[in-house]
Amino acid sequence: MNTAFTLLIQPSGFVEFTILKRLVEVLGEKFVSKIDVSTENLTPPLIHYNWLREQYHAGKVLDWIYEKIRYLGYDRVLAVCGFDAYVEPLNFVFGLADPFKGIAAVFLPRLRPEFYGFKPNVDKYFERLVKECMHELGHTFGLEHCSNRKCVMSFSNSVIDVDHKLAAFCPNCSSKLKGVGIQLGSSAILLQ
Ligand SMILES: [Zn+2]
Ligand SMILES: [Zn+2]
Repeated sequence: MNTAFTLLIQPSGFVEFTILKRLVEVLGEKFVSKIDVSTENLTPPLIHYNWLREQYHAGKVLDWIYEKIRYLGYDRVLAVCGFDAYVEPLNFVFGLADPFKGIAAVFLPRLRPEFYGFKPNVDKYFERLVKECMHELGHTFGLEHCSNRKCVMSFSNSVIDVDHKLAAFCPNCSSKLKGVGIQLGSSAILLQ
């Protein structure tokens, strides 16, 4: 993969159009890529919803979406999901990736300031979304969690960690991406 990779952004559940539009622009600056937004919203069936937890099962959502879109042949798929989700044994996940299938998902509710009782703030919400999208895409390219707390590949236990990291890859993670043929925009690379 030495040219731009193809990326499908797949809305699932309620996602604001304005957010999708901004996401295409910003991810296009972060990664040398060709990005499309799916024309169809794919909301997973309730069989993948856990009524006790009031969350979707993230892994099942990922697999369900993958089966719906795999025939389209995109290099990577990023599902942007307007619902909360979990993976055992965690209480929740901000996102999930399957590097073998080349698909990732991010889950929106916990990125919103109002989830924590703060006033809505679209810019803060969007900044968190960009970081989580970059993080999960990084996993689909084979990156693991990074010990550099500023690196977008550092693990986030809470939204405080998401806010602490930057929307960029550290030199180590950047060079690993380069090694698998992924080119980054200058705003996606940390100097240290
Ligand atoms: Zn991760
Ligand atoms: Zn890193």
